[in-house]
Amino acid sequence: MNTVRFGIMYEKASWPDLPLGHGVGEDRHVRAICKCGASSVVDTSMWVAAGLGGKPLPTFEDRMRCIPCGARSVPLEIWYGRVRPTLQAMIYVFR
Ligand SMILES: [Zn+2]
Repeated sequence: MNTVRFGIMYEKASWPDLPLGHGVGEDRHVRAICKCGASSVVDTSMWVAAGLGGKPLPTFEDRMRCIPCGARSVPLEIWYGRVRPTLQAMIYVFR
């Protein structure tokens, strides 16, 4: 039997009210994690392109929509580590 292991460790940025721009880079990503248990990696590039990179991350939580439970605000978190492609898009950005 083979055991599939992911050789990547993730670390959550624990500092509250980090700016959106802190989550941009090759070695980090932003996740939306809903209270229902759904989670997705969020593409923040359009917000950064719009010049919003200096705003606190929670500013964008009301823009998120959770598909499984219909939540209209989903907490966002910055994580260090490359995006894991197996995280499905259960939560999307509502513009
Ligand atoms: Zn949800």
